[in-house]
Amino acid sequence: MTQPLLNARPESHLFYQTRARRPVLAEARDLHIWDVEGKRYLDGSSGAMVSNIGHSHPHVLAAMRAQMDKSTFGYRLHFETDPSERLAAKTAALMPEGMEKVFFVSGGSEAVESALKIARQYALATGQGSRWKVISRQPSYHGCTLGALAITGYGPLADPFAPMMRVMPKIPAPRAYLDGLDADDPATGAHYAAMLEAEIIAQGADSVLAFIVEPIGGASTGALVPPAGYMQAVREICTRHGVLLIHDEVMCGGGRTGAFLGGDHWGVAPDIIALSKGFGAGYAPLGAMIAHDRIVNPVLDQGGFAHGFTYAGNPLACAAGLAVLEVIEAEGLTANAARIGALLKSRLEGLMDRFPFIGDVRGKGLLLAFELVADRQTMDPLPAELNAYVELVELAYAEGLIIYARRTRDGRAGDHFLVCPPMTATETHVDEIIDKLTAALS
Ligand code: PMP
Repeated sequence: MTQPLLNARPESHLFYQTRARRPVLAEARDLHIWDVEGKRYLDGSSGAMVSNIGHSHPHVLAAMRAQMDKSTFGYRLHFETDPSERLAAKTAALMPEGMEKVFFVSGGSEAVESALKIARQYALATGQGSRWKVISRQPSYHGCTLGALAITGYGPLADPFAPMMRVMPKIPAPRAYLDGLDADDPATGAHYAAMLEAEIIAQGADSVLAFIVEPIGGASTGALVPPAGYMQAVREICTRHGVLLIHDEVMCGGGRTGAFLGGDHWGVAPDIIALSKGFGAGYAPLGAMIAHDRIVNPVLDQGGFAHGFTYAGNPLACAAGLAVLEVIEAEGLTANAARIGALLKSRLEGLMDRFPFIGDVRGKGLLLAFELVADRQTMDPLPAELNAYVELVELAYAEGLIIYARRTRDGRAGDHFLVCPPMTATETHVDEIIDKLTAALS
């Protein structure tokens, strides 16, 4: 599909994944973004599930301006800053009990790397140096740095770099909807959790350091909600085998699913949490790794954590993050995400009557996705040549709606699309999303 506006622009000096060009952003307010041609888009994916409280929120902008007048950077090894101390305290208060210490980073991959490395240092500090393997799931996405990529189950991104990293073992993600199993049946959760235990044993339990899991799947699985009992069983298995449990909350954390943490839905406390995206909510590159005191203290007591990023915890980013948490709290956005998310999900399910090629609608709160298939009975994916995951995004763009697409390319899942507007969404926004999506799907 051609985009005349883009072709009119001269060659760019920057590049990302490809040469693809995009409209030039002019302004963004709450759920809407305008390009320089004056076209308005509804941000139906909050960027990449980042702008959780909407764009240009006045409270956050004011907090950032106020901080800018004081200082924009204080190197963490030279100074403590008020915003970083306050954000750490506020963040810890939102974590499961005993997770009192917060390690700031500037993004999701950094948060995951930090989780892996504190796990390893904890093992070393507690006489468990034989443990280094980190089990994850297929498909999954945990970041693009080589450590995070080694635990990422997504071939197109990871395979080219396999010789450069220690690729880690994977177990199947619990995609009950593809396996013809009932996700509400606790036997299904037990079935998939048993795969973790089998893998731990196959690897040799005393070599396994950790298991990393997104409590609610993000881009890789398309808002996959684990089957009944899965998260609890995984916790129990990890504990029994002395394996640390890491929750990657980079995408599902921050309130979007209707609870601050995805893990909160099951009352499960991991050992380590990785947080980003909605934590900075598009206002600042910000993330955090939070670990239980029983992990952090031995590491700090024995030489310290041999790890850190230059921009970590800078006061401007932390002032933004603090203001984001204040907005979520003051405006009751987590509850709104649950309420509006339920409405949006039921409206997406309604589209299944009209469009037989929608095979599944899933997710929780405002972390929602639908999947396109060739056949709803067999759940066979659409032919890859159709490039549905590219085409539908372009058609939605033309309608002024941004959605986020992925194909797992494992030959089983179809093309899936995340529909994840900011948590400030209202009923009117839901109407606008459904109208535009209907036009694009038609
Ligand atoms: N973990 C998950 C679950 C993610 O969705 C992402 C980003 N899509 C990352 C880690 C990596 O985050 P970042 O792109 O900020 O490095």
